[in-house]
Amino acid sequence: MRKWLISSCMVAVLMVFGMQGALAAPAGDKPNIRIIATGGTIAGSAASDTATTGYKAGALGIDTLINAVPELKNYANVSGEQLCSIDSKDMTNAIWLQLAKRINALLSQDDVDGIVITHGTDTLEETAYFLNLTVKSDKPVVLVGAMRPATAISADGPMNLLNAVRVASSKAAVGKGVLVAMNDEINGARDVTKTNTTTVSTFKAPELGFLGYINDGVPEFYRESTRKHTRQTEFNVNHMDALPYVKIIYGHADDDGLFVEAAIKAGVKGIVYAGTGNGSIHKNAEAALAKAAAQGIVVVRSSRVGNGTVIPAEQSYIDEHFLDGDSLNPQKARILLQLALTKTNDFAEIQQMFKIY
Ligand code: ASP
Repeated sequence: MRKWLISSCMVAVLMVFGMQGALAAPAGDKPNIRIIATGGTIAGSAASDTATTGYKAGALGIDTLINAVPELKNYANVSGEQLCSIDSKDMTNAIWLQLAKRINALLSQDDVDGIVITHGTDTLEETAYFLNLTVKSDKPVVLVGAMRPATAISADGPMNLLNAVRVASSKAAVGKGVLVAMNDEINGARDVTKTNTTTVSTFKAPELGFLGYINDGVPEFYRESTRKHTRQTEFNVNHMDALPYVKIIYGHADDDGLFVEAAIKAGVKGIVYAGTGNGSIHKNAEAALAKAAAQGIVVVRSSRVGNGTVIPAEQSYIDEHFLDGDSLNPQKARILLQLALTKTNDFAEIQQMFKIY
């Protein structure tokens, strides 16, 4: 936290000397931004200021995070609330539903202009995509995290938080879908993924690219996704208490279909198979997946490769009614399949959803 305060002072000094590119909005013109905290490394506390592992994620409350960045007040009327305090590896469907409902309630108010969510980085991309499909507003919703705990030298949290508030305050962010603002870059929820286990430049949208920069505090957009999001989707979770049970099964050499059989026994409604290459499936797992599909379990072929689109391949996959996961990574294909199953069990309708979301 000491380092947070030092970095805050440095920003203040830069502003005094007029070196800060993004000018603070005049009082009264500032948007009202709600920060919803969920935990993560951005709220992490370590035993020493050089420790970047072995710390407790989610240890610091939202007021501590806001108070450590007084510059937030220059850009927005910021208020905070604590939804949960978890390491995001422990994210659940229940928290997602709670979060989506809370955001929808807040954004329906005239006195809320945008939302920032502080979040652990491990599942940040999943929460972002879930919200991208379930938030019913054009107002900006921006997720932010940090790779270094708040107590570390050069903690990345304070500047990331300030930039996230700037993005959420920006008119350019309206209608862009749920965004991720970290490391001076703005990514779209659908395509962003964590690409490195430890570095601060971990969030990328490989091949498809990020949406924009935060240039000296000013959000600049250069592109946007063509896929439907937020108000344009057919999904509404505002009255839901649970989501359909969908599992991911990771393909590998010598796969024997054991986990597919286990998933069928456990009563899953859907399976995302993270296949090799273009969603290819080991012949032993394929037999088990065909059995699953014949029972009405929706099977989506995704890929463990990390880039590219899963498109129709073997005739047998078509005959067995396996769906193509498009360019969603397996963890995001799971989310879309969960939401799709809240609407229909029809293979063709669900396949269409994978083409538009
Ligand atoms: N395990 C942490 C979390 O996801 C990692 C982080 O936030 O960077 O909560």
